[in-house]
Amino acid sequence: MKQLVFRFDVDTHKCVKQGIPNLIALSKRQNVKFTFFVHFGRAVSQKDFLVAMIKKSKPTKKHAHLSALTKLGFKNYLVAAILNPQIGVVGQKEIRDAIHNGHEIGLHGGRNHETWNREALHWTKGRVNEEISWGINEMKKISSTYKMLGFASPHWKGNNRIYSVLAEKGFTYVSDIHSNKPLQKIDTKNHYLTFQITFLVSRWG
Ligand SMILES: [Zn+2]
Repeated sequence: MKQLVFRFDVDTHKCVKQGIPNLIALSKRQNVKFTFFVHFGRAVSQKDFLVAMIKKSKPTKKHAHLSALTKLGFKNYLVAAILNPQIGVVGQKEIRDAIHNGHEIGLHGGRNHETWNREALHWTKGRVNEEISWGINEMKKISSTYKMLGFASPHWKGNNRIYSVLAEKGFTYVSDIHSNKPLQKIDTKNHYLTFQITFLVSRWG
């Protein structure tokens, strides 16, 4: 049986408030199920933002991507930059609706999406454990019985230290392979699975 899988990362308040309901409506029309990788923390690190302004550092552009401003639009960009809402709190209802409609929820990082991008590859195992446990705990506040099995690193920033913590926490797969080639081999070297899922970027995240 052939399956086509689309990956949706939910890592801004707009993704959770508008993206998930739109996609649930689409899934009902098409009779399909999705996996949403949810970031339960905050999208922006105001500390990192200020440091970047002072240093006038430009983001590295290893992979083609849309800027946050293009993705969010001006109003929502300001909401993310200034109010910086906790995505797992403002989106509780939408995440619960996704579960009730039979979609899968995976985890997409820890407390802060931007901090993960900048620092996660240098974190100790203890810090990685703390961040991932925090995400699992936020999910428990939304559904005490739901068990997340999949993980996707923010900005594809994952390494073996992170993957071994995920395996210890009971995650069974990681979706971190990022390529513009059509299909990559499934990595089964370790005790976790890493494979590529088609990534769809749109204006709602
Ligand atoms: Zn992300």
